[in-house]
Amino acid sequence: MNNSLFTIADKLIKNHSLTPDEYEQLVSGYSKGLANYLSANAVKVRKNIYSNQVFIRGLIEISNICKNNCFYCGIRGGNHYCQRYRLTPKEIMQCCVEGYELGFRTFVLQGGEDGFYTDEMLCHLISNIKKVFPDCAVTLSLGERSKESYRKLFDAGADRYLLRHEAADKELYEKLHPTGMSFENRMNCLKNLKDIGFQTGCGFMVGAPYQTARHIAKDLKFIEEFKPDMCGIGPFIPHRDTIYAKENAGSADLTCYLLSIIRLIHPNILLPATTALGTVSDDGRERGILSGANVVMPNLSPESARKKYELYNNKLNTGVENAFHIAELKKRMENIGYEVVVARGDVARMRNAECGMKG
Ligand code: SAH
Repeated sequence: MNNSLFTIADKLIKNHSLTPDEYEQLVSGYSKGLANYLSANAVKVRKNIYSNQVFIRGLIEISNICKNNCFYCGIRGGNHYCQRYRLTPKEIMQCCVEGYELGFRTFVLQGGEDGFYTDEMLCHLISNIKKVFPDCAVTLSLGERSKESYRKLFDAGADRYLLRHEAADKELYEKLHPTGMSFENRMNCLKNLKDIGFQTGCGFMVGAPYQTARHIAKDLKFIEEFKPDMCGIGPFIPHRDTIYAKENAGSADLTCYLLSIIRLIHPNILLPATTALGTVSDDGRERGILSGANVVMPNLSPESARKKYELYNNKLNTGVENAFHIAELKKRMENIGYEVVVARGDVARMRNAECGMKG
């Protein structure tokens, strides 16, 4: 046992904050024992706030057409092998109808940066969804847009926005993205989303090319300071049509360890056990929940779209990944002592002093 690492872990549990050096030591000092210690504590604070409830989100992948060329991403604009598609507002609405029937009360509209979806079109779609399903939350994950655009989408009724920061270190961000994309703009978008009033989510890939423990420490410090309502992290997984095709995938162990750390930084955060985690490990979903996650996002996209939304190779699109197999997901969660609930599943608003103090 490395006592100083457990001392750092205790400090995190008590203060919900560490210095970048301490985060780095924790990340590079990964051990099974430390992981178990952190996950036990993460589960404890999560249970105090969210009990044994797991929130589900219906993920609708609205388009794989993208003007960007993020080096790691299978649907980057420059990938000419990618078969492109986009869903019409009518098709998206149909996904919501089916999702509602299955018990989903949050719809996540995710896609590439596709200029087809103007503010006007999206606003119309969002207000329609909210009109037909007033008890549902709408989450958007459509990349970088102007502040005015974000405000219009919010005013039309969108509740949440997911925009992973991808890397809190500018140099690493620039290694993962082409020159047309800027670290500053990404960060500015996140700030704008929060200012407007969205429940805002950031996040990053674990084990991305060139990423070190120091980089991850910066991500954790950023997450601590930015105070997002949601945070999406999952292992990086290579895609054959990218320059990172030959890189190794990120590890499930490290991803779960980081889920525990993020839960301890922000006890009330909405934290998904992501598809990428389920892809690198058969029981990734369960392991994510048992490490402190409290959200799963099964896929509600039409069958024809699902295979084409290939961010990375071997992306799961069957089994519990499929929203239509919700019964199997429920059973798997029950097997580990959790309950999938029919609810919007908003972030629990609480004063910091209350977080994780009970029990
Ligand atoms: N265009 C939107 C949605 C991007 S896809 C946006 O910019 O936010 C959602 C997330 O998938 C990305 O933020 C990225 O972190 C993740 N992703 C992309 N390629 C990946 C890969 N090869 N392995 C793992 N995750 C990947």
